[in-house]
Parts: sequence; C-alpha cells; structure tokens
Amino acid sequence: MTDDSDTTLGFATRAIHAGYEPDPQTGAVNVPIYASSTFAQDGVGGMRDGFEYARTGNPTRRALEANLAAIEGGRHGRAFASGMAATDAILRAALRPGDHLVIPDDAYGGTFRLIDKVFTAWGIDYSVAPVSDVDAVRAAITPKTKLLWVETPTNPLLNIGDIAALAEVAHEAGTKLLVDNTFASPYLQQPLALGADIVLHSTTKYLGGHSDVVGGALIVDDEQLDADIAFLQNGAGAVPGTFDGFLTLRGIKTLGVRMDKHSDNAEALVEMLTSHPKIESVLYPGLAGHPNHEVAARQMSRFGGMVSVLVAGGFEAARDFCARTEIFTLAESLGGVESLIELPGAMTHASTAGSLLEVPANMVRLSVGIEDADDLIADLKNALG
Ligand SMILES: *Cc1c(COP(=O)(O)O)cnc(C)c1O
Repeated sequence: MTDDSDTTLGFATRAIHAGYEPDPQTGAVNVPIYASSTFAQDGVGGMRDGFEYARTGNPTRRALEANLAAIEGGRHGRAFASGMAATDAILRAALRPGDHLVIPDDAYGGTFRLIDKVFTAWGIDYSVAPVSDVDAVRAAITPKTKLLWVETPTNPLLNIGDIAALAEVAHEAGTKLLVDNTFASPYLQQPLALGADIVLHSTTKYLGGHSDVVGGALIVDDEQLDADIAFLQNGAGAVPGTFDGFLTLRGIKTLGVRMDKHSDNAEALVEMLTSHPKIESVLYPGLAGHPNHEVAARQMSRFGGMVSVLVAGGFEAARDFCARTEIFTLAESLGGVESLIELPGAMTHASTAGSLLEVPANMVRLSVGIEDADDLIADLKNALG
C-alpha cells in the first residue's frame, strides 16, 4: 500500500497494510521488532529515516502509529505504554491549571481516578454528566471548559453518547471533544468522521485483542495538537516497547473479523440472558429497548462484544455467578479472544465506591470472546444455576 491516508480503501485492507510495506531489502512482510535503543547517524545530525533515539521514535512504533491513524481515519497516531499513559498525555496536552473538563458520570474507573486524585491537585477542575444526555453535558460546560471527555459505549454501564451532537455542543463552546473508542473499536465506530477532535484507545483491549499486551493510543487530525502530544510522548517518555508495538499491530490485522464474531456471540448471549429468570436486566446497545439504541444504531455498524447484566439477588448472587463460570474467566480487562467475567463494583470500578460514579453492586460485566457461542451460552446458564 502506498498511501496510508487513502481512506477509499476498506477497513480490513487498511488494518492489514497501512503503515508498512514489505522490507525493500529482505522482503519481510511484517515489520521487524527493532530492538534498538539508538540509531547510527551519518555525521552529526545526519539521521537515517528520522530515527535517533527509541524514546523519540522507533521503526516498529512508527508502523503502528501510521496504522492507528489509518484505521481511525485520522492524520496522526501516537502510541503509548498504556491507555492510562495516553490519558495522562492528552490531559496535559489539552489542559492547563485553572482549566475544566467534563467527564461521563460512568467513566472508566482509571480515567476518573487519574483526574480526581492527580489532576485536581494540579489545578484542573472537572464535572460529571451522563453522556447520553446532551443537554446535561451542555449544562456542565463552563467558560473554563477545555475538554469534553466521552466514552461510548461507556464502561461498564454501556450507555451511549451521540458523538455528532456532542461534537456540536463542544465546538459551540470552543471546547475539544475526545472520544474514548476502546469499547467500540474503529471497526464499529469512527468518531473523527462524526466530528470528534481526539480519539483515545486502550489498545490493551480490542486492538491488541489477545490479552497479551498493554498499550494506548491517541489519534488526532490537528497538526499543533499532534505536535503537543508528540512532545509529551518523548518528553515524559511513556512509550510502548518495540515488542508491544509489534503485538498490537499484529492484533489490529484481524480486528474486523474478531469484532464481527464478538458481536455475533454477544447477540446470542443477550438473547439467552434477556429471558433468563435470574437476570433482572441486560445492558446492551443492540437491544431495541436500550434507552439509546437508535443513536447506537446510527453511529455504530454493530454493537460489539461487551454486555453487562444486573443479577437478581443482589451482590452475593452476582459474586456467585462470577465464581461459577468455567469458560468465562474471572478477570479484569476486556476485548481479548477469550471470554471474561467480572464484578465491576468490587474489581475494575472499586475506586468509584462512594463517588458519583459508583456502579450497581449486582452488576456483572461480560467481555464476550470469540469461542463457540453454544459453549458460552451453556457456561452462563450453568453458572446462573
Ligand atoms: C482499559 C481502559 C482504559 C485504560 O487503558 P489501560 O491500557 O488499561 O491503561 C481506558 N479506557 C477504557 C474504556 C478502558 O476500558
């Protein structure tokens, strides 16, 4: 492939080819793992191909970053050591002491914790608003707001924000819109095309896709913002290792086929769970009864592999359900080929206890993998008893 910004190519073609062409010398069809911290120069300042020191740039990482930009339909991609490292970088690139941001009232627990415990101490103020309520988000914006932070679908409540409407709200107020696209992945949802200014990923999840690497990414169109992000990426140094970059790029190649299977399996499980007597309710944006199903249907091509349920019988019943599955592994994280189950209130979102972002105690979150649907259905039925 010759032009990474060629968005006339289909998603799968970009996912597989963007960012790298077979090595002219060896013909290697995959980017090598460049295990080199420094790069020889031809005379002082004479960098070959722009590389000097691997914190600043590395050929494996460059291939990943070009690929990330291509699959999100953006101009610039930057890779980080984790989703939280990307979060930290964009908060510092976009905000100064005295600034304010708006975050979802059910934001990812780690995002909330970083802002609430670290950034407030550096003079950043925040408000929370439900992403599904455009008027509430607009009302939360103050003259000091510099960033509107949106997850959609949210983790773990699977609420949906209308990206195009929120972009309008943000831009009317002179604020940037960031979309954490971790849950949907660029295969199902393209926030930049809908008006967002910044896309954030925990590439640990669907992009990596195999629960074997931790990483993060930021994708933007704006030249200056990208320069500010790149400055922090190098200046603070939360960069991914070269092997991490390779694994993430390898994961991305199969993103489309995986997301289709994740979505197929989630739909099959949702059908079973909605009629199960031990399940009070199922949270899935693909359900016609989901409060924002229509928005989800408009901005997502499918509804993904994340499903949350409220279990009848409260916290104990939910905890027992999590303990009794055999194929679903009890573990944090999501987006891998294997199915995972967890209790957000006691695990991923324990840090939100007592805060405005507290999640229901009887909520169980499923990251539906790509095993055989019948086996997954039987496993959950068995665990529910
Ligand atoms: C996991 C996650 C993050 C944080 O990413 P890490 O790679 O774990 O640092 C951010 N946002 C969402 C929605 C996540 O699920």
